[in-house]
Amino acid sequence: MTSNLSARAAEALAAIESEGLLKREREIGSPQGARVTVVGADGRRREAINLCANNYLGLANHPEVVAAAKAALDEEGFGMASVRFICGAQTGHRALERRIADYLGKEDAILFAACFDANGGLFEALLGEGDAIVSDSLNHASIIDGVRLSKAKRHRFPNGDMDGLESALKAARADGAKTVLIATDGVFSMDGHFARLADVAALAERYGAATMVDDCHATGFIGPQGRGTPHRAGVAARVDVLTGTLGKALGGAMGGYVAASRPVIELLRQRARPYLFSNSLAPAIVAGSMKAIDLAEAGDDLRAKLFANAARFRAGLEAAGFRLLPGETPIVPVMLGEADKAQALARALDARGVFVAGFVFPVVPRGQARVRTQVTAAHSEADLDEAIAAFAAAGRETGAI
Ligand SMILES: *Cc1c(COP(=O)(O)O)cnc(C)c1O
Repeated sequence: MTSNLSARAAEALAAIESEGLLKREREIGSPQGARVTVVGADGRRREAINLCANNYLGLANHPEVVAAAKAALDEEGFGMASVRFICGAQTGHRALERRIADYLGKEDAILFAACFDANGGLFEALLGEGDAIVSDSLNHASIIDGVRLSKAKRHRFPNGDMDGLESALKAARADGAKTVLIATDGVFSMDGHFARLADVAALAERYGAATMVDDCHATGFIGPQGRGTPHRAGVAARVDVLTGTLGKALGGAMGGYVAASRPVIELLRQRARPYLFSNSLAPAIVAGSMKAIDLAEAGDDLRAKLFANAARFRAGLEAAGFRLLPGETPIVPVMLGEADKAQALARALDARGVFVAGFVFPVVPRGQARVRTQVTAAHSEADLDEAIAAFAAAGRETGAI
């Protein structure tokens, strides 16, 4: 008997394609940057302005970051071939954990292979039966999966709805939950708006709940010295657990972390499954990320450029007649509605040398397809003006404006 696995996969793919939801990866033949070389399906290479990387501070190919990574490659080798607790903990790993903790104002930090793993491992390790997790409805997939893996009772509140949060906290308390943990993104990445952390912290205090913030789309460029949304909101001391990534503003390589009190971090070292059973970060990534944090912390000039760029780009698209979601972050979502419209605009921009991605279900809700753009500190004003002109032309061609 033959299995039908491939036939079923082919059927599912056909259904995804017929709905206009198939994601096609495009290849880049250059380092990440404000402009990249896109390699077409026909092998042709052409330059494009990149508006869809999480490279907020432009550090992904920064010479000092590359140099630090190269030096580590020579001095500490290519790979660790071990999880941390067996023989995968180099001096650099602990140094980076301490650096992250200091930067974010926490007692300690623990590295993971990705923030997806940090979020995936943290809830199960810290909470159990008899506890409750109260989660924002727009939280990242990794938080949703991590919460599912925990035995704690799950409560969900509508995005940013503080009455909804309060009701969930009341319900958790009425259930007799021993520990209640509120979990939220610091910046909601599909829409680019902030969590209401001052209100969240006040409610957490009122109901004796702990708070976890995933600051992947904030650390490095939001708040004083880029320390993130809790610092921006003035509630850093009241956020118990911070998670984040080394794969976005902080160099963009890979790796995630949790920063929290010493006992929380130590318990994660003992219990978090993606930490215990997955390989240690490569030395070059550790060293490059360390340099990226130095540059981010000292990078007021980069942040000023980033936010000036975001304002310029936003104003240009609005003047061209696009509907944007309002926001103060460098995430600028251009709303199109149906999936095919977002895909058509992305293709028309591609033809004009602007690299963007259409975001469609299931990454965003049905009917809210968009081209999510992200501005970086590496873009020049000329890059942005050229991109705005291309948007206007592509928007007219596809009927988006
Ligand atoms: C990108 C992202 C993650 C995943 O981070 P990785 O390090 O790439 O696994 C988790 N949470 C949020 C909010 C993110 O934006």
